[in-house]
Formats: sequence, C-alpha cells, structure tokens
Amino acid sequence: MAGTKCIITGVPGVGKTTVITEALKRLEEAGRPYAYLSFGSFMFEVAAKKGLVKNRDEMRLLGKDDQRQLQQEAAGEIARIDGDVIVDTHASVKTPKGYLPGLPEWVLEALRPDLFVLIETDEDQILGRRFGDPSRIRDLDTYGALRSHQSFNRAIAAAYAMKTGCTVAIVTNADHLLDRAVDQLVTLLS
Ligand code: AMP
Ligand code: MG
Repeated sequence: MAGTKCIITGVPGVGKTTVITEALKRLEEAGRPYAYLSFGSFMFEVAAKKGLVKNRDEMRLLGKDDQRQLQQEAAGEIARIDGDVIVDTHASVKTPKGYLPGLPEWVLEALRPDLFVLIETDEDQILGRRFGDPSRIRDLDTYGALRSHQSFNRAIAAAYAMKTGCTVAIVTNADHLLDRAVDQLVTLLS
C-alpha cells in the first residue's frame, strides 16, 4: 500500500475546505503534493445519477440505508486511488435519526487512514460562518447542538484510531487565524 492517507474532518461551516485548499497550495509549492478527494462529491455524483437528491446538502436527509449505500460506493472508489491523498469528509454526519458515522468499519477498512484530522473552532464562530454562506444549505443548529456534535466527533475519532492505529490531530481554525490553521495542517502533512 503506497502513499499516505489523510482523513480531514470538521462540522459543516468550520472552514474545512478552505483550510485544506490553502494547505494544499503550500504543500505543492514545497514539492509535497497530495491529491484532494472530497468524499461528499463522490457520494453526490452517485446520488444525483440515481435521482435521489438535487444538491449535496440533501444527502444527510436521505434514509440511513441510502446514505450507507452511497458511503460504501464512495469509499470503494476512493480506495482505488493510490499515492498521497487527502480525503475531505466528516467524522460523523448529523441526520434526522442521529449521528451517522462517517467512517463505519467497512469504510475504515477501505480507506486505511494514517492520519485523522479534526478541524474545530468555537461554536459561535461556526454559527456565524454558516449564516454567511449562501452557497450551501447549512443547518441552523444551536450553540449547544454544535458543541455536542464537535464533542461526538472527538469521541468517534478515538474509536477510528483504536481500529486503525492512525494518529489523531486537532487543528483549530479560529476567526482571523486561518494562517495558523493552515500552518498546523501543512506541518502535519509534510
Ligand atoms: P461536504 O461537502 O464535505 O459538506 O459533504 C457533503 C455531504 O456529503 C455531507 O453533508 C454528507 O451528507 C455527505 N458525506 C460526506 N462525507 C461523508 C461520509 N464519510 N459519510 C457519510 N456521508 C458523508
Ligand atoms: Mg466543505
């Protein structure tokens, strides 16, 4: 198995994709390129083809079986991609039926991560970012609900580490301190 597999997660609106995009630019410039894979995009491609959803934010409202099926198909495709890869995904997905693990056993086995990253920040900052993002249909969670979700994500990340032996790193993406988050991620991936 060649290559480093890095899973990067964070609740919707934490700025995951922004931090990753900036870190990837720097790593490329430093001669340490990674392929960027969005788990949600792999799922959405299949979901849209099947006519299940019209946008990616509808997927977390699908029935559990549909979500698991899409998840498995995405994991299978991603597992076939060799080399150094970053997978932009979710430690858990907040669905109407509770938190769905982003990496249940069969997904973990397919992906075999070396490093698992949680991107976090204070709940009030996440809420502010969700309000300010017209491109997505973000959940209007309460402060407490977001806090529970971030805390659940730490717990499930520990379970993923137990299963695979991957390391877990927490990167804070605080308001006005994007560069600091990018620096941390670049260091982890260098
Ligand atoms: P994103 O663009 O990262 O917010 O992902 C879009 C959507 O894809 C999420 O809201 C989930 O519905 C779905 N998704 C992404 N990663 C996973 C995963 N590992 N397991 C289940 N659903 C996922
Ligand atoms: Mg994103």
